[in-house]
Amino acid sequence: MGLFNQCSKCDKKGIFLKLIDGLCKDCNHVKQNEFEEKRKIEEIKEQIRLNEVEEKRKLKDYEESLIKRKNELYGDIERNAHNIKEVIDEYKDILNKLGETSCSEDENIKILIDEINEKEPYILILNEMQHLIWQLNNPEYCLPSSLVENVEKLESIYLPKIKEMEQKI
Ligand SMILES: [Zn+2]
Repeated sequence: MGLFNQCSKCDKKGIFLKLIDGLCKDCNHVKQNEFEEKRKIEEIKEQIRLNEVEEKRKLKDYEESLIKRKNELYGDIERNAHNIKEVIDEYKDILNKLGETSCSEDENIKILIDEINEKEPYILILNEMQHLIWQLNNPEYCLPSSLVENVEKLESIYLPKIKEMEQKI
């Protein structure tokens, strides 16, 4: 220090050299630019972080909606819903979608897929059988000829099939 002002970075000196925070005009300019650059980088980093949080939230919502639908469909299967084939198809579709996500049920999904594939023929036959039985119990809703057909189907096709399948499961 003394008579001259001296930039602490580039050592430029002069009586009339104006210093800002110990730096000459040029060095201060560089410092400001660097500062601005860092700020922009931080801003971008923060935006990326926020995007990731948002993506994760969306994925979680998606997974939760899949799980909810999966449970509804499973309930329909248990209740042997009249549109069982559609229900099973959608259930399988949902399980596959869940299998593609990174959700915590991952391990169980494979088990559930195997289970439904194994039980599907049995569930379908059981459903059709119940439909036939319902028709027999409500003859006013169907033709007499189809009733006779139903009894024959039940005896010759469905009952033996069900017995066979029940032994397998
Ligand atoms: Zn300087």
